[in-house]
Amino acid sequence: MAGSAPLRPGVAPRLNKQFKLFGLAISGYDRPVTSFDVLVVGSGASGLAAAVSAHRAGARVAVATKGSLQSCNSAKAQGGIQAAFGEDDSPEQHAGDVWQSSHETADRRLVEILTAEAPEAIHWLEELGVEFTRENGGYRLARCGGASRERLLQVGDRTGHAITTALRDAVEAAETPTYPKSPLRSLLRTESGWRARCGEHELEAATVVLAAGGRCYREAEERGELSTNHPGATGEVTRIALELGAEARDLDALQYHPNGGAWPGNMQGYSIPETTRAYGAVLLNAEGEEFTDPLGPRDAVSQAIFDEVEAGRGVDTPDGRPAVYLDTTRISERDAEISLPYMLRRYRAGGIDPLREPILTYPVLHYQNGGLVIDEHGRTTVEGLYACGEIAGGTHGRNRMMGNSLLECVVFGRRAGRAAAAGH
Ligand SMILES: Cc1cc2nc3c(=O)[nH]c(=O)nc-3n(C[C@H](O)[C@H](O)[C@H](O)COP(=O)(O)OP(=O)(O)OC[C@H]3O[C@@H](n4cnc5c(N)ncnc54)[C@H](O)[C@@H]3O)c2cc1C
Repeated sequence: MAGSAPLRPGVAPRLNKQFKLFGLAISGYDRPVTSFDVLVVGSGASGLAAAVSAHRAGARVAVATKGSLQSCNSAKAQGGIQAAFGEDDSPEQHAGDVWQSSHETADRRLVEILTAEAPEAIHWLEELGVEFTRENGGYRLARCGGASRERLLQVGDRTGHAITTALRDAVEAAETPTYPKSPLRSLLRTESGWRARCGEHELEAATVVLAAGGRCYREAEERGELSTNHPGATGEVTRIALELGAEARDLDALQYHPNGGAWPGNMQGYSIPETTRAYGAVLLNAEGEEFTDPLGPRDAVSQAIFDEVEAGRGVDTPDGRPAVYLDTTRISERDAEISLPYMLRRYRAGGIDPLREPILTYPVLHYQNGGLVIDEHGRTTVEGLYACGEIAGGTHGRNRMMGNSLLECVVFGRRAGRAAAAGH
């Protein structure tokens, strides 16, 4: 519920009379205003990480979000999160892979921070209770598309669920006021900071952290395509920021996940974890021929599938959709049981066993590569306005590697939360 947490001294509601005209309250403005130091918009991994960090920095924080606190892309993330823990790996190697995968379009400074702070971000998550899958005394690491090393940490194939659960627990433990079902509708500058209309609530804060994710759900609807995204990924907060004068970059660069589920019907739009390919699955055309490097960068793999189907070498799903085969029978039972149990369960529930027969796949709209321009503290180009996670651009340039988005949420969510608390 709105303001579900008790209001603390110093944040007592007061009636906003400023918008009364000729003694009449203008509809919607005659509401109590609640004030905070930092308002976080969005309850995905980036927003929750920002809220935890701002609270730890001593700020009075609130989180307003569009749906339930659980509703976000972060909770759907399956495959994993990257950090250079391998013996032959280093943050520099990781940064080099990001740079190559972005086709040299990323913001180098952000990439260096992302990769240098990755191991510490993992330990921070562990401190909050996330238990990454381990083997032989270390983390179980997989190699994902575009990576030169095994670097992907996992929590089975429900990594995002584990991370967001731990972050939500930390937000609750801090008694941070939360406003679910309170979408940001407008953001106005005041003398002391910002006034936000969030659903039925009027919230004031010295600084605001925008963590409202991307827009692929809406974009897919407009294109008549499938998307992996949750229905709240519609991008209106980016528009609000642009109207306030914030700069953005690469907003046109949307990413297709190479392996959307194409069949059975209940799996259409499901993102088949990229770890299937990390553990041996390959892409086959109608003739049963491999036609691309299964561990290439995402855009290259997606394009190869589009080209194969365009050239008439694809297969049709029973309901007439284009597809190719993902030969998951090459994955060992052991790897599947440790790193893909959720995917196995879902396919088997639909009557298909991916370890016995190849599954049908086709790219689906997945991720907004670009977004609001930020500096290394998550500051946008508008004073007092911060951004982190998928709504921000630069870290991935025009093509993101898998496993770097959850990482970005944690690294830059923490940074934005700290900086917003300090108000600089
Ligand atoms: C199916 C799937 C699998 C993925 N797998 C991986 C993976 O394995 N590894 C990886 O690194 N990345 C993965 N990703 C990408 C990654 O999960 C997301 O990009 C990342 O978690 C985005 O986090 P976020 O906090 O920026 O946004 P989100 O998690 O989408 O959260 C945005 C929040 O903002 C709220 N919001 C939206 N509009 C408003 C508004 N107007 N007012 C208030 N609140 C609003 C939403 O309700 C939501 O709570 C995956 C994504 C999907 C969809």
